Amino acid sequence: MCSADEARAEARRVLEVCNVCGYCNGLCDLFEAARRPPQLAAGDIDHLANLCHACRSCLYACQYAPPHAFGVNVPRALAAARWQSYRAHAWPPGLAPWLLAHPLLGMWIMLALCILLVLGLMLAHAGPGGLFSAHEGAGSFYALLPWGQMTLLASLALGAALLALALGLGRFWRASGAIPLTRRILWQALRDALGLRNLRGGGPGCADHGPAHSHWRRRWHQLLLLGLALCLAATLAATVYHHALGQLAPYAFTSAPVLLGTAGGLCMTLALGGLLALRCRADAEPLNPLARRGDLALLILLALVALSGLALLAARATAAMGLLLALHLGSVLAFFLLLPLGKFVHAGFRLLALAREASERQP
Ligand code: SF4
Ligand code: SF4
Repeated sequence: MCSADEARAEARRVLEVCNVCGYCNGLCDLFEAARRPPQLAAGDIDHLANLCHACRSCLYACQYAPPHAFGVNVPRALAAARWQSYRAHAWPPGLAPWLLAHPLLGMWIMLALCILLVLGLMLAHAGPGGLFSAHEGAGSFYALLPWGQMTLLASLALGAALLALALGLGRFWRASGAIPLTRRILWQALRDALGLRNLRGGGPGCADHGPAHSHWRRRWHQLLLLGLALCLAATLAATVYHHALGQLAPYAFTSAPVLLGTAGGLCMTLALGGLLALRCRADAEPLNPLARRGDLALLILLALVALSGLALLAARATAAMGLLLALHLGSVLAFFLLLPLGKFVHAGFRLLALAREASERQP
């Protein structure tokens, strides 16, 4: 693994070649953005690395790509610099850089700890007999883990993760120029982020399998986002059922929380399958190995969240419910805790990079 300085130096080297060449200017925002600063300082490199969406089109368009002596591989150099920017700015210092240097190992450790924690609480509350028995009817989940403990665990994990995420984003934002974030700039950045404008490769899409382009990676990302949004809506609907209607989970198959959660889980599963298939067939040349392991860790964790949720729905009236509930809650807790410490940070970093880009593009 190269250091942050080495990754930035390689990114600076290839971007200086691009600034002279200018051939790829229409492919994404990055090439124009790289020409604006008189010199590419460390903060500029971190910003530019997060502006690149790794569509890989510029590698196959480049006359200076390996085996040319210049060895220009923009997506790979920027992927390394991007991952090092997460390690440099993510919070808390110490833990975040280590987890980002060992994304798969860190994910498995966090997942195991979270599942063991949930299992321990269930055993303490319901005993082994309760854990391995079938429970039916309203409130059956809470026979294994009381509602208060379940809510407290999720709230603490999410609260701590959002705080760490905000602190990490603040560090990145200051290092990459601290541009004033007006409502107009944020709105433009949000539109660019949701539309994944820089994942269009200048029009024909991403070059995932060598020079052939397609829009599938952008579509799978957007489907995954839709799945996550539906799961969030299911949680909000369940909160309304619990507090406003006085109904306890698990809910009927035709209820709003179950319909929204099922649709969300299916969207996530389909999108993750598509992204994993693209990953298996992708040309490894434009990819950075560490960033690749980080991508895989997030995909595996999200797949566990989605599949364990769907399995819990299907088997909630059986004796397997206890273990499936522990697996689902454990994977959700691990996902929350790793939000600021793994690949998921790219969403916030990229949004801030798009905001700086929107600000610099303003007339
Ligand atoms: S990637 Fe290659 S072709 Fe494109 S601008 Fe850079 S040097 Fe030029
Ligand atoms: S977004 Fe695509 S075209 Fe732009 S720098 Fe990254 S890989 Fe190259």
